[in-house]
Amino acid sequence: MANKRVYLFREGDKSQRDLLGGKGANLAEMTNIGLPVPPGFTITTEVCTEYYATGKQLPEGLYAEMEAAITDIEASEGKKLGDPTNPLLLSVRSGAKFSMPGMMDTVLNLGLNDEVAAAMVAAGADKRFIYDSYRRLIMMLSDVAFSDKNHAISKHGFEKLFYDLKAKLGVSNDLDVTGDQLEQLCMDYIKYLKDLSGIDFPQDSRVQLKEAVEAVFRSWNNDRAIIYRRREKIDDAIGTAVNVQAMVFGNMGDDCGTGVAFTRNAANGENHVFGEYLMNAQGEDVVAGVRTPMPISELEAQNPAIYAEFDKTCKILEDHYKDMQDIEFTIERNKLYILQCRSGKRTGTAAVKIAVDMVAEGRISKQEAVTRVAPDLLNQVLLPVIAPGTKYETIAKGLPAGPGAATGIAIFDAHRAAELGKGGQGQRVILVRADTSPDDLGGMLAAQGVLTERGGMTSHAALVARGFGIPTVAGCSEISVDATNRQFTTKDGRVVKEGDFISLNGTQGEVIIGQVPVEDAKMTGDFGTFMGWADEFRTMGVRTNADTPGDVAKAIALGAEGVGLCRTEHMFFEEDRRPIVVNMILDIDNAETRKAALAKLLEFQREDFRGIFAALNGLPATIRLIDPPLHEFLPNLVELTAEVATLEATGKPVGDKERILKAAESMHEINPMLGLRGCRLSIVYPEIVEMQTRAILEGAAAVIKAGGKAVPEIMIPLVGHVNELKVVKAALEATAKAVVEEQGVEIPYSFGTMIEVPRGALTADEIAVEAEFFSFGTNDLTQMTFGFSRDDSDKFLKPYVEQKILPGDPFESIDQTGVGLLMEMAIEKAKKVRPNIKLGICGEHGGEPESVKYCHKIGLNYVSCSPFRVPIARLAAAQAAIGKGAADK
Ligand code: PEP
Ligand code: MG
Repeated sequence: MANKRVYLFREGDKSQRDLLGGKGANLAEMTNIGLPVPPGFTITTEVCTEYYATGKQLPEGLYAEMEAAITDIEASEGKKLGDPTNPLLLSVRSGAKFSMPGMMDTVLNLGLNDEVAAAMVAAGADKRFIYDSYRRLIMMLSDVAFSDKNHAISKHGFEKLFYDLKAKLGVSNDLDVTGDQLEQLCMDYIKYLKDLSGIDFPQDSRVQLKEAVEAVFRSWNNDRAIIYRRREKIDDAIGTAVNVQAMVFGNMGDDCGTGVAFTRNAANGENHVFGEYLMNAQGEDVVAGVRTPMPISELEAQNPAIYAEFDKTCKILEDHYKDMQDIEFTIERNKLYILQCRSGKRTGTAAVKIAVDMVAEGRISKQEAVTRVAPDLLNQVLLPVIAPGTKYETIAKGLPAGPGAATGIAIFDAHRAAELGKGGQGQRVILVRADTSPDDLGGMLAAQGVLTERGGMTSHAALVARGFGIPTVAGCSEISVDATNRQFTTKDGRVVKEGDFISLNGTQGEVIIGQVPVEDAKMTGDFGTFMGWADEFRTMGVRTNADTPGDVAKAIALGAEGVGLCRTEHMFFEEDRRPIVVNMILDIDNAETRKAALAKLLEFQREDFRGIFAALNGLPATIRLIDPPLHEFLPNLVELTAEVATLEATGKPVGDKERILKAAESMHEINPMLGLRGCRLSIVYPEIVEMQTRAILEGAAAVIKAGGKAVPEIMIPLVGHVNELKVVKAALEATAKAVVEEQGVEIPYSFGTMIEVPRGALTADEIAVEAEFFSFGTNDLTQMTFGFSRDDSDKFLKPYVEQKILPGDPFESIDQTGVGLLMEMAIEKAKKVRPNIKLGICGEHGGEPESVKYCHKIGLNYVSCSPFRVPIARLAAAQAAIGKGAADK
């Protein structure tokens, strides 16, 4: 026998979200704890799956089950569906496991028809009210049920008829249209539907119900629902349930009303009821903004008895669910009804405060509190935000690469941004580039925010943005940047010129025209308390990716337990070092020049490392030797070629540009990511890494001699064959021994490698003989496992995800089946030869909650991420240890 398809509300409970959907399960739960819920039933999500599996057919057996349920409602309401003398009216609403607000369809006032409407009026009901309800039913049912059969049908056509009628009558307010006029409008609606599509509006209530149920199932796959699920990562296969419920009316007069409320403030978490309501209105009036709703506090003055009951209901629901609830209610003739409750969506700040308060109130345990906050929500606690309630105009959307909000004037080159921005003239600037290279770093750091046309979530712009907490929108293909003319154009032709104010919402990937008020993040006491609890449960370490003492200090303040990746090359980009590096590259094959340049750089780097060790105060630091191809230190080849050509053509002096161009040409590689970089660079030009090793250990020695502690872990990048590691390590060990002898202090250093080349993972047992630790470089490991360029993949990854070729962007969240398999193999092999090998991850995934949970599962000792993501990683690691995360979408 088929499974039970229909559940009366009293037959279900809150544990049945999979089967009854979130709304259905909670309606059942509220019914069973005695709250005033209008009677009804839920058609299960399994029926939705069946509907699609059978080519959009409602299963035969469903009707009998629905009839039995309707009979039950009729008995409790003392009314009958379709009976003109005493009609039962129904609402039909969607309700999937995870709430998808406004994405699917709803039909209200079902059961009205010509005869029932007339009879209700004859029996004394308000004519205006009855025909307004009937009008809405005709419009809603036609829109959701029949537009699929005839695309010409839409809500707007009906709305236009109503609008035209009001224009003809010379009124603007719906309430000024009389009952007689609305009755005529209903007839016009029905005729309009027939003329447009040949469809007779169904007068039979059962037919209306069948059409409405099917329409809700179909709306599971409308465009906006699909887009919403993709964004929220909700599985397409779970389907929606349908809730059929006796209607209650908030628009029958001044003793009626409707509203939505949260049991606590969803924006800041304060413990008071927070919401809005409207008297004499239906839910959609509130949503449509036709009338301005009143704050819920007014209800207390307006109707104290109802407010007291509502307040009591809020407390019952919080006590019962032990969480903040989002409640929809209707007041019909001074009687309160609860139509929905669900765990309320909240900001990060509110989530933390509510979790901490609920522990203090004795409602939940600390462990439960730690699972209540989705790690990503902490982003909002930490970064500047657009002041809540601000209205703004979004002109383009891109990838939310660096969270936070920023506002400033658009500037199209890094040099000018550095001149005008932070550290320069102190103006607020937004750096706009087609893409960014390390060359742009100075400008990026001087900017409030960065906007790029190209580049994905691990593009340079995104990486730097997250590392430094710069709000960034990357890969914004909806704009076209014209750096020469210093302007960009949006896809609808809007031109933004240098100097125009723009704003970015890096958390949402929005590009906004004009200025918006931006507020700084507030680190509240609750946040500290909450993170302390997370650490009590966490078993995996959290380190940071940081390259300067300032960033290290910032990360430690946010709870980092060491540095997991110091990208030493970033130190070469600073203003005072760049010319030295460029000079070295210009004459790279001349050993003398190389040595002279390196001797100067040694001075800088020693001081850098000393500062980092001092900031770490005994915590370990994994310092990676130079990794990127050398051309990254030179200007962009294409731009430079054009510049030299222009200078030559106009007879202007070319100066040093010619030499730089030659060097850039000789360093140019077809695929630089697979070229002369990482340990290959250390093998071809050993002096660079010898200098770096010396600088690291001398910096450490300085700290130790000053009475501090320093724990350097020297990391060799891009190893694919054990022999690469052997060669580099042997050369560096000689330097290390020499430095230790010269300095005359013990330095507890170790040598390890990144695992970021697939062959490195496959031969991890050979490599582990030489390496004291592994750090998974999952940016490169993803790039090389998939063969996807991390800088160019945004062009196809978006369609890949949209077409479900991939479940998500593998540069964002670890591809556990492929890249993860390599990691797991590497761990197993390495542990065979070195059981206590220290294992970490320093790719961008180290701060992404799902990846962090995966790293816990496969037994890594620590994850390492940008300073701003440290709290996120701490929380995700704690949730992984507890075995549970914030469940509600
Ligand atoms: C990596 O490849 O994951 C990594 C951390 O190194 P980078 O991003 O600097 O190449
Ligand atoms: Mg790498």
